[in-house]
Amino acid sequence: MAPRPGHRSIRVDGSGKPFLQGYRCGACGAVVPEPTMACRACADRTPPAPFKSPETGRLWTWTVVQRSYPGIAVPFVSAVVDLDGGLTLKGTVVGVEPAQLRQSLPLRLVYDDAGGGTDKDGAPWIGFHFTVAGEA
Ligand SMILES: [Zn+2]
Repeated sequence: MAPRPGHRSIRVDGSGKPFLQGYRCGACGAVVPEPTMACRACADRTPPAPFKSPETGRLWTWTVVQRSYPGIAVPFVSAVVDLDGGLTLKGTVVGVEPAQLRQSLPLRLVYDDAGGGTDKDGAPWIGFHFTVAGEA
């Protein structure tokens, strides 16, 4: 069964490859994660146009989660990441020591299997996490 997007900004192209989609206002450039009838920033009535978002960005803020639900390994880093195209996503940063974290750290989005879960029909979910992209 074909994997399904597990986040509102994830889309799947015709070949089954996931990508991120945002919506940008043509009048003011504001970016939102879902389609809207008008711009929330400037009230322009032309619906913001879809665009394919870059999968690179910078760490805005984060917290180290020390306690979670049973079965969820801790500690992990939960972060808010500003993507280069204007979208802002919350996700987990993998493969980094908390002491390495700093604001504006370059990160890269990596698609994953959303923890191995499936929907009610058995289709796997497409999720994502972030890794350190290296210094820019
Ligand atoms: Zn606008």
